[in-house]
Amino acid sequence: SRREGFSAIPNVKWDDVGGLHLLRKEFDRYIVRCIKFPEAYGDFGLDLATGFLLYGPPGCGKTLIAKAVANEAGANFIHIKGPELLNKYVGESELAVRTIFSRARTCSPCVLFFDEVDALTTERSKEGGWVVERLLNQLLIELDGSEQRRGVYVIGATNRPNVMDKAVLRPGRFGKLMYVPLPSPDERGMILKALARNKPIDANLDLIALAKDSRCDKFSGADLSALMNEAAMIALEDKLSSTDTSNSIQWAIKDAHFMSALDKISP
Ligand code: ATP
Repeated sequence: SRREGFSAIPNVKWDDVGGLHLLRKEFDRYIVRCIKFPEAYGDFGLDLATGFLLYGPPGCGKTLIAKAVANEAGANFIHIKGPELLNKYVGESELAVRTIFSRARTCSPCVLFFDEVDALTTERSKEGGWVVERLLNQLLIELDGSEQRRGVYVIGATNRPNVMDKAVLRPGRFGKLMYVPLPSPDERGMILKALARNKPIDANLDLIALAKDSRCDKFSGADLSALMNEAAMIALEDKLSSTDTSNSIQWAIKDAHFMSALDKISP
């Protein structure tokens, strides 16, 4: 896997994200335009040194939207997985936190994304003990140094906001909480459309209607992605096993392929 703190502009675009329009708007105001029009934001005295916490069930687009924010702003993106920072020798975790922030400053503007951030910020009295406590203190020091944080936008993601130390959720730290819910039936349609962007879809296939099928209830974005891939796989197998050599058939993903895929994929 890539070195910790590896930075690059991600290739996820807003068009790859289905639904989540309110979140997109908020990030546009707080991060994207701030990076694009720094003078205007400065003129209005807007102090945007805050962090964001995306919370909600797994697989609903937290990582995806963080990447899209960086792409849209033309900013670098650093992806840190919370638990990986913990699996270190004593003292190394704190150094890793310092190094990550310093690397983010070097390549600013930069979106610094902490996945499973709850692992680093469990309430201090609970699991983990003093290793977590030292790491957490270092993280708070970095988050509070807003002067040096210019150009570094911190976004955390968690499925368990309730186990996080309240100190981390203060303004200026991970102070702006944003809920990323399971998609509604309409939003499932938008996600399927986003996922279909690079796939051959039969013209008669109505993805919006399909998304309202009760068998898709409780599907997350990740489940819908698995469904789309399964349907594509079945469609491809149809094509490969066909004995037709006339090349007259337009091979595409059809309703029937989704029906078979729905037998295999469940939330
Ligand atoms: P976790 O909490 O497990 O880290 P997450 O909320 O960060 O999950 P993502 O990693 O963003 O979820 O989503 C996983 C995959 O599911 C994405 O790569 C994408 O294929 C699909 N997906 C999820 N949500 C959406 C969405 N809103 N639009 C399009 N695709 C989505």
